[in-house]
Amino acid sequence: MEPLEQLKKWVQESTNIVFFGGAGVSTESGIPDFRSVDGLYHQQYDYPPETILSHTFYVKNKPEFYRFYRDKMICLGAKPNAAHKKLAQLEQAGKLKAVITQNIDGLHQAAGSKEVLELHGSVHRNYCRKCGHMFPADYILKSKDTPLCDECGGDIKPDVVLYEEGLDTATMQKAIFYISGADVLIVGGTSLAVYPAAGLIDYYRGNRLVLINKTATPMDSRADLKIEGKIGEVLSQIEVS
Ligand code: NAD
Repeated sequence: MEPLEQLKKWVQESTNIVFFGGAGVSTESGIPDFRSVDGLYHQQYDYPPETILSHTFYVKNKPEFYRFYRDKMICLGAKPNAAHKKLAQLEQAGKLKAVITQNIDGLHQAAGSKEVLELHGSVHRNYCRKCGHMFPADYILKSKDTPLCDECGGDIKPDVVLYEEGLDTATMQKAIFYISGADVLIVGGTSLAVYPAAGLIDYYRGNRLVLINKTATPMDSRADLKIEGKIGEVLSQIEVS
């Protein structure tokens, strides 16, 4: 059977699909990923992105951290694409249980998905490290240099998991719960290079692991079905009844 036809059949047969995705899910919305040729790792900055987006760098050089964060991480004009929308439809139709994402852009929620596990946090939540007051992304965008809390003057930190920081345990446990119970696991738009998130696939126990990606990944050999292509174009061909 053709890979796309196989995917359609598995989706049709299941009421327990889980989706696990990464930055590639949002490239069709105009947000660059990290590792593609036109991704952020191939652009020139004074420091490599993984250095700027580390906890140490955030603590030591907030103005430069926020320059990059405002410029490259907050994309408020971006709209959900066909992939985000199809996943939301599948959830509404009672077929998909959860979206587990490494993305921090909030586009799954914007498309209408309800059960979204954000492994790496969200640019839409920023908090004062002193008093806990929350700020939207817009507050950071409009601030100059280092944004400060307008309630107490404390430092603001994005609720985004930086390099050297751990993932939220409760979110990880919930992700493991969904993946280990799924009968179809669709993994898409991720290089599967960032741990511990990439290791979540190890918890899948079924035999319908679908990998949809533009390029090869280290886990291709584990897929029961591999579709090479753009995830929005692939998912938009699935019919939801
Ligand atoms: P990554 O950049 O390492 O890999 C993206 C993968 O998606 C690549 O393999 C690429 O070939 C593929 N891809 C790109 N466009 C695609 C498309 N339209 N269809 C199918 N595949 C496509 O991203 P990652 O694996 O998510 O991990 C890196 C980290 O990047 C994550 O921690 C995430 O927090 C962060 N990030 C998030 C955003 C966002 O929120 N939109 C953007 C950039 C980076």
